[in-house]
Amino acid sequence: MISRKRVLVTGGAGFIGSHLCERLLAQGHQVLCVDNYFTGTRDNIAHLLPHPQFEAMRHDVTFPLYVEVDEIYNLACPASPVHYQFDPVQTTKTSISGALNMLGLAKRLKAKVLQASTSEVYGDPEVHPQTEDYRGSVNPLGPRACYDEGKRCAETLFFDYRRQHNVRIKVARIFNTYGPRMHPNDGRVVSNFIVQALSGKPVTIYGEGTQTRAFCFVDDLVDGLMRLMATDDEVTGPVNLGNPHEITVRELADRVLALCGDSSLLEKRPLPQDDPVRRCPDIGLAKRLLGWEPKVPLEDGLRRTVAYFDQRLRQAG
Ligand code: NAD
Ligand code: UDP
Ligand code: UDP
Repeated sequence: MISRKRVLVTGGAGFIGSHLCERLLAQGHQVLCVDNYFTGTRDNIAHLLPHPQFEAMRHDVTFPLYVEVDEIYNLACPASPVHYQFDPVQTTKTSISGALNMLGLAKRLKAKVLQASTSEVYGDPEVHPQTEDYRGSVNPLGPRACYDEGKRCAETLFFDYRRQHNVRIKVARIFNTYGPRMHPNDGRVVSNFIVQALSGKPVTIYGEGTQTRAFCFVDDLVDGLMRLMATDDEVTGPVNLGNPHEITVRELADRVLALCGDSSLLEKRPLPQDDPVRRCPDIGLAKRLLGWEPKVPLEDGLRRTVAYFDQRLRQAG
């Protein structure tokens, strides 16, 4: 029997956040979703609004927030390169001021606080697969830096609040995650490929398509986040959460095309600046600490994601 908690999810109307809110409610918790709707939408949480234990609040985490909760998941931040580069200064502010405000809140309430960090703290990695002790290779001046360095500084704040104020922190380094409710226009590879293939448009491969990523289905990721939150106070992370099944972008395109009927062509586009060549998590620590590993194979996850976008595109006419 799980005791009912009051849980704050910042970025709760986003892709991962909306799935997390759903799962927390299903476990019987009260959920306060805070979002400024920059990349998230009320559509993502429309089905949760009638739930008596759910509350949605429009708020920007760069401003202080005074609420009473037991646990905080800090997910607020645009996550796709197209969105986080749209207003890079706001991205850095969201990461840093957002983390500071959530840490101040956690300090006052003696609440646990979990930071949604990212594999981007490793930059374009020289170590493969990436383990948590690898310090990363980030270009601090490039177009990805607002996100990467913002998230790195947020991690620093988390560990300083722990050392200085004994705040109960958890840091998850999330690797590429996909699934229903990804934004159709956010430019991420899985949503781009599926939307392009379903609309009969060419599938856009950046560079030669030889760069690799490893894709985790959102349900698995949410399970990992909740397991990390449930650990004892000595467990702080950082912990990698992702699926270690590494594939090339070209292979992903072939998989998506096979699921969507194979009618689209491939189109090569220039590789964006600072695009990491290889990325794949070492999840040994998550396995040991959380007894966690992803369960949903890429084929099943892609099928469910294709079904979601197919329905959306039909609704849009
Ligand atoms: P998303 O863009 O769908 O969700 C982010 C949410 O944060 C949106 O609802 C957005 O409106 C909200 N937001 C942005 N700025 C805000 C602000 N200043 N105040 C309040 N709300 C704000 O992205 P996502 O994929 O769901 O990512 C969620 C978190 O997970 C992010 O912190 C992201 O950095 C992290 N993450 C995601 C991935 C991934 O592959 N999806 C990988 C690594 C890390
Ligand atoms: N903060 C908040 N909610 C709270 C407590 C603090 O948003 O319930 C913010 C506060 O405005 C500050 C930040 O969190 O900007 C850090 O708070 P802390 O108490 O650590 O720092 P201080 O207020 O002493 O600068
Ligand atoms: N990518 C691609 N075509 C697209 C979108 C992305 O080839 O339409 C590539 C991109 O260059 C990168 C990989 O797919 O190498 C993953 O990109 P995404 O933006 O999803 O995530 P990230 O680069 O942050 O891992």
